[in-house]
Amino acid sequence: MNLGNRQTALDNLTKNQFDVLIIGGGITGAGIALDAASRGLKTALIEKNDFAYGTSSRSTKLIHGGLRYLKQLEFGLVKEVGSERAIVHKLAPHLVIAEKMLLPLKEGRGFGTLLTSFGLKLYDWLAGVKEIDQRKMLTRQQTLQHEPLLKPDDVKGGGLYAEYRTDDARLTLEIMKTAAGHGAHVVNYVQATDFLYEGGIVCGVKAIDTLARQGLLIKASTVVNAAGPWVDELRAIDQSKEGKQLHLTKGVHIVVDRKKFPVRQAIYFDVPDARMIFAIPRGRTTYIGTTDTDYHQAIDEVKTTIEDARYLIEAVNDSFPEVNLQLADVESSWAGLRPLIHEEGKSASELSRKDEIFESSSGLISIAGGKLTGYRKMAERVVDMVIRRSFNNRELKSCYTDKISLCEDTFTNAGDVQAYKKALAVNLAPFGLQPYANYLVETYGRQTDDILLSLNQFPDEHESIRLARAELRLTLENEMVQTPLDFFIRRTGMLYFDIPRLTVVMNAILDDFKKYFNWNDEQYKHELHKLEQAIREAQLMISDQ
Ligand code: FAD
Repeated sequence: MNLGNRQTALDNLTKNQFDVLIIGGGITGAGIALDAASRGLKTALIEKNDFAYGTSSRSTKLIHGGLRYLKQLEFGLVKEVGSERAIVHKLAPHLVIAEKMLLPLKEGRGFGTLLTSFGLKLYDWLAGVKEIDQRKMLTRQQTLQHEPLLKPDDVKGGGLYAEYRTDDARLTLEIMKTAAGHGAHVVNYVQATDFLYEGGIVCGVKAIDTLARQGLLIKASTVVNAAGPWVDELRAIDQSKEGKQLHLTKGVHIVVDRKKFPVRQAIYFDVPDARMIFAIPRGRTTYIGTTDTDYHQAIDEVKTTIEDARYLIEAVNDSFPEVNLQLADVESSWAGLRPLIHEEGKSASELSRKDEIFESSSGLISIAGGKLTGYRKMAERVVDMVIRRSFNNRELKSCYTDKISLCEDTFTNAGDVQAYKKALAVNLAPFGLQPYANYLVETYGRQTDDILLSLNQFPDEHESIRLARAELRLTLENEMVQTPLDFFIRRTGMLYFDIPRLTVVMNAILDDFKKYFNWNDEQYKHELHKLEQAIREAQLMISDQ
């Protein structure tokens, strides 16, 4: 499955009358596009930047039930997203990977052993976790064996429970590609700037192709606003920003070399202000997050501040004193905004993560809140509403996205993924690329076969450059990559998790972009500048805000 040619997709946007047009190419929009197209609705989606540019590339990258929502007594939410985990794992086993999470229990902090044991049991039960994967309570000694870096005096026991890790941007992309495979017309770098109306009812949007700076009109019977943190901006343009409103909170993650913070497994630990944060190993790094603070600044310019990074560093040093993390250890970072629904008197951490759908008198449907994990059910609810409102007279299928694999020729289960990884490592050995087997499979699944095939086109290169050029080829041809940031952040995750590799491959990749898009020297310099600036920001080489 692939996203096809951007220009063709762009032409199709203006030539057609759509049943449904979705604004926003994050996981919510992608999920709605797949659900709508697979049920038989003529579907289009526009994204003002790159797919997953917003919150959907800046999360903690967990497909999880949200243990902490139990504390807020949100049983319905835990049950829904908890059950969704196993479904999304089945749909993309290489991308949604089961991983046990360690929850240390500390003297005088958090809940006691009994309450935690009961909470984790309830979590398993609500999420329908298989018996073999259900929570296991650990003694103090067992907890320290699982994670010797924990401060021994603090630990009084622990729990191990089931979670899944993912790559949020890649998951969004694979859903988007699958939607395109079902006939959805999806295009990045197209921004909705205004709505079209007929008799006061929304019947399309005015938009701009932000790369060619060209305006276009897109007609649709129903328009869905899935713009994440930007949902209220669009409701304001529609003059329907009334009633409930968004409450944006910022969440930051920092990335350090795994050798500096060598956690043995993912761990969810409490910090001095009674919040909980994650430390998650990924490839050569460990990432730590997240913060949760109210955000009132420009939505497009959300950044990690030195203060955010210090908060996470102090949290790590409090629980893992031997690690002695310093600001200088931060290799990379990212900051994202949670598009939550405002509730009077509640702080950032107390706000519900439940999704809500708003229908304005102009017919615009907006969806906000929610989690990466619940994208499929959110999409089902939106498409049910679209059908009920406008297409009840048509024979359309019921939602069946729980049966649509995300990736052609996908794996049947985790065992299948492991077998493929093993065979791949053997095939990569002659190229000196076997250390990349895990990364390639968890990023591209079986599409790695295409990457392997094109390695021979780049014979004289350093092995890592050779691989990156083959990856770029795949993503240019199949995934609508338009800029180096699309490639280094949202297709490969290299800017977050492998800055040393990025530094090695950067020039060759920019040269390939220049050739592919026929850039002049000025365009080349502009893109290089944007990339260098993004690296500096991720590495906190900016003045504090
Ligand atoms: P977005 O991903 O922001 O997508 C909206 C898109 O709309 C953007 O790409 C934007 O560019 C586009 N857009 C805006 N305006 C326009 C316009 N005018 N025209 C065209 N396009 C437009 N959930 C989990 O399940 N697991 C986690 O581990 C987790 N961790 C999180 C950690 C943090 C720090 C944060 C902030 C969130 C986390 N979440 C997690 C929540 C989850 O990431 C979000 O709920 C989800 O990504 C929101 O997706 P979305 O598609 O609604 O919004």
